[in-house]
Amino acid sequence: MPDGVRTDGMRNSAWGFPIIDFHCHFPVPDEAPDPAEAAYVAEFGEEKWVKLRADWRWYQEQWWARYDFPFPEDLEPEPEVQARRWQAEVDSASLEAVVFTTGGSNRTLAGAIDGYERMLGFAHHDPFAPGAAAELRRAITEDGLRGFKVIAPILSGPIDSPELYPVWAVAEELGVPVLIHFGTNDGGGGTAWHENINPLRLHSVAKAFTNATFVIPHFGCGYPAELLQLAWACRNVSVDTSGNNEWIRWMPYDLSLESLFRRFYETVGPERILFGSDSASFPRGLARRYYDDQIVAVAAAGIPDSDRDLIFAGNAARLLKL
Ligand SMILES: [Zn+2]
Repeated sequence: MPDGVRTDGMRNSAWGFPIIDFHCHFPVPDEAPDPAEAAYVAEFGEEKWVKLRADWRWYQEQWWARYDFPFPEDLEPEPEVQARRWQAEVDSASLEAVVFTTGGSNRTLAGAIDGYERMLGFAHHDPFAPGAAAELRRAITEDGLRGFKVIAPILSGPIDSPELYPVWAVAEELGVPVLIHFGTNDGGGGTAWHENINPLRLHSVAKAFTNATFVIPHFGCGYPAELLQLAWACRNVSVDTSGNNEWIRWMPYDLSLESLFRRFYETVGPERILFGSDSASFPRGLARRYYDDQIVAVAAAGIPDSDRDLIFAGNAARLLKL
């Protein structure tokens, strides 16, 4: 086990061993306007945007039904209400901690989870925005947020742009993990192409900021080979396992959660894989089905319990300095 990583002081979850869910979303509306929406509407008109959103919802309803999940509620209650609902989820599953990678805005998320010791939050703002590096520093040092979440395929420029180096420098200096989504975004009906779609686009950044840790979610979300290449080349790149990993279904070769766990385990080892569920909305709350599926897959992949404990809690505790 790596230096300083302990899971023996942690409580056992409802699944019988400690769990830190490294990737959830705090369910309140995003306060920043969607730059992609504004650009699309300006160029092609409101009507086509509405059609695109309706198509997206059609896809969403397909897969929520496939998992037998209740569709997310439209009405999003106040942040304080959502925090209380989430605390009940954390308690009922006896999670060690849960990480919200987004939540309205940095101040909203930090305010909502303030005082809840098992809820942690990440900063999430446009790294290309003026003052983004200073805002990251403020969110970490003043708001107490624990990392930085970026969605690469919605950015207004390339993720390896030198313009963003001051942002990565802050993360490196403060020792907080950077979670960067690559690959298809927003599921079916979402974004399938963008200049930042490919995780390998992070290569020069990861090589430049060797003391920063970059975590790429959803096993690369359609780009598992590219993420494996990136992680093989850069020891400071980790992977999270979160979400429905629906993209497995349309890969042109057979894949399963079990084979993904096995391949990543064999390539990058147990210390760079972090469990997450991508749980977000109510009435579903904690996506226990994803917990069940991943736990079964890890066992089927032959991963021993000591390494399972790293994946489900130890690695997150190390990165988050818990
Ligand atoms: Zn997510």
